[in-house]
Order: sequence, then structure tokens, then C-alpha cells
Amino acid sequence: MSTTYRLGVLDGDGIGPEIVPSAVEIATAAAQAAGVRVDWVPLPLGAAAIETHGTPVPDGTRQTLAELDGWFLGPHDSVSYPEPHKSALNPSGTLRKHFQLFANIRPAKSFPGAQAVCGNADLVIVRENTEGFYADRNTYAGTGEFSPVEGVAIAMGIITRAATERVARVAFDLARSRRGKLTIVHKANVLKLTTGLFRTVCQEVAQDYPDVTVDDFHIDAMTVHLVRRAQDFDVIVTENMFGDILSDLAGEISGSLGTAPSINASADTAMAQASHGSAPDIAGQDIANPVAMILSGAMLFEWLGAQHGDTAVARAAKIIDAAVAATVESGVSTRDLGGSASTSEFTAAVIKAITADSAGTDRN
Ligand code: ATP
Repeated sequence: MSTTYRLGVLDGDGIGPEIVPSAVEIATAAAQAAGVRVDWVPLPLGAAAIETHGTPVPDGTRQTLAELDGWFLGPHDSVSYPEPHKSALNPSGTLRKHFQLFANIRPAKSFPGAQAVCGNADLVIVRENTEGFYADRNTYAGTGEFSPVEGVAIAMGIITRAATERVARVAFDLARSRRGKLTIVHKANVLKLTTGLFRTVCQEVAQDYPDVTVDDFHIDAMTVHLVRRAQDFDVIVTENMFGDILSDLAGEISGSLGTAPSINASADTAMAQASHGSAPDIAGQDIANPVAMILSGAMLFEWLGAQHGDTAVARAAKIIDAAVAATVESGVSTRDLGGSASTSEFTAAVIKAITADSAGTDRN
């Protein structure tokens, strides 16, 4: 009897209520095709939760998430929340901090049909997710950003050996399972103690991975290398803020922000989350690209496969990846990729690709 996975569904704001249901529908079809059972658990979050529960991340949502195998998180538009929620840590930061989702894994891969400006890139950015220079989430209590007097603002950056080591090990393991190359990104010539420690600890961890080739770059130089020769990179490990910025760049040059997926993982749970934001400028029009959210769902399935040694759920991940690639390759895509399909038309085309493929498999 195969495992039944219980996965949370948090639509979020902006285009979230369009792209999250699309990703769930496609994940359901792929799970069925692979013989995997999934129980979906919808939970309130974001602007809708402020309306119903008076807070963007209700306690009940956190309690239920703690019992699940993982979840799909839509984007949030926290700048539009009323105070005090607008100034508080945003919902994804809250969940990353609460569940110690320390590794934010963000692949950037060009696929046929998308208009990649960087050739055939296939890289993964592993971003440390719990500390670094994001002062709104790098403290146990309170925040590392404050204003002691009017006209003066101070933000604290925190790098620790323990947090760097755990994320470095995720990155080295990933590099080992891919092309065996790892790039450390830092700014150790200026932020000598903080990002210098990040580089040092990554280099120490490298001693345990003699089969992985390691190099390192300053963050500013890295943006240039990424634009010029993204194809040369395999796995990139970096601190929180550098990783956030670099992964948006990598996502955009490998196709579109609308195609850049991610998961946020701890040692025992994971959250699928598109790398882009809530795109309020196009919300409610059925034109958003759901690919990033769909592929984030595939990454969660892949992570569950590795976590549980379950080849069926790993196969469901591959079914999603292949169906999305085949759909875009066949000329069906949303307008950010140069096509004309709506979100729902694209979703239907991917489902059709999964169903046609599993019918073909059944016949063989
Ligand atoms: P955040 O700070 O929350 O990450 P952001 O300010 O980086 O958000 P996004 O919401 O990601 O901004 O939007 C940036 C641009 O990319 C907008 O023009 C938006 O319409 C576009 N965009 C983002 N996601 C998608 C998508 N899935 N499909 C199509 N366009 C998108």
C-alpha cells in the first residue's frame, strides 16, 4: 500500500488564487498517473485570512501545517495589507522562520519554447533562508532592523557557522547528484566577518565532498557571470538576500520570472513556492503564467520522493516536468513567454498532455 501524502494548499494573494489551483489540478493528475494518493488540505492565508481570522497567518494554519507532509504556498501581496500586518514579517517569511525552512532551492533552467536570453542554462541556487541580511527574520525574537532616532535606520546581518553548514551540505549533496560543481557566492572583500564566515564554512564543508569542484565569486561579479555565461554554473550556494536577488535574475534570464520554481525545505518538511511575487498588476485576468507554481509542486513531489524513498511520487514529479515542457514546446504558453494562452487554457493543455501520456503508457 503506497503512502498517502497530506499536502496543504494556501492560495495567497494576487495571482495566487489562479496559479495555485492550476498547480494543484496538475499535481493531482500527475499523482493519479503515477499511482500516488494525495489528500489536499486548503488553509487560510494572506489577505483572505485577515478578513476571516484577523491575521494573515492564523494559528490554526500553522498548527495544521505542522501535521502535514508539505504544502503549496501562493504568493502574497503584503504591501497591500492594512497595518499592523503590512509592517509585520510577511506570510512566507513567517512560515520559513516558524518551520525553520532553511534551504530555499531555486532552479533556473531554460526549456524549449521559452525565450531564454542565456542559452541552455541549467543551474540551481541554494539560498540560506533563515538569517543573513534579511533583518526582518534573522532574530529569535524582535527584528534586526530598527530606527533608534528619526533619520537613522540600522539593519543587522547575521551569519552563523551552524546555519551556513546545514545549507552548504544541502548544496553539496545537490551538486553531487547533478554535474558535481558548486559555486559559493559572497562579498568577503567588504563584509569580511559575515560573508567571509559564510565562504569559510562552505569551504570547510567542501573537504567532505572531494568529488565536487568548488569555486567562489563576489555577488556583484556573479551577476555579470550569470548574464554572460549562465550555462557554466551548476549549483550556487549563497546567503539569504544575495540568493533572493540572484535567483530573480537567474529566473528571468532563463525564460521568465513566471517559470522560476522553488521549494523551501527543513530536514523534515517542505513548502512549494513560485519564486515570483503576487503580480497584482495582472491578477484576476486569467493571464498569469502558472508554470513556476506548477514546477514548484513537482519539486515538492521530488523532495517527498527522496525523503520517503518513494519512486512513485518521484515519478509524478517527472510527469509534471515532462508535460509542462511538452506543452510549451508544442507552442502553448502564456503571454509572458510570447504565447497567447490564458492560465486556464495552459492548465488544460498540461492536463491533456499528462492524460494522453498515461493513456499511451497504459496501451504499451
Ligand atoms: P515580490 O517582492 O512579492 O517578490 P515583486 O515586486 O518582485 O514581488 P512580482 O509580483 O514578482 O514583483 O512581479 C514582477 C513582474 O513580473 C510584474 O510585472 C508581474 O506582472 C510579472 N510576473 C510575476 N509573476 C508572473 C507570472 N506568474 N506570470 C506572468 N507575469 C508575472
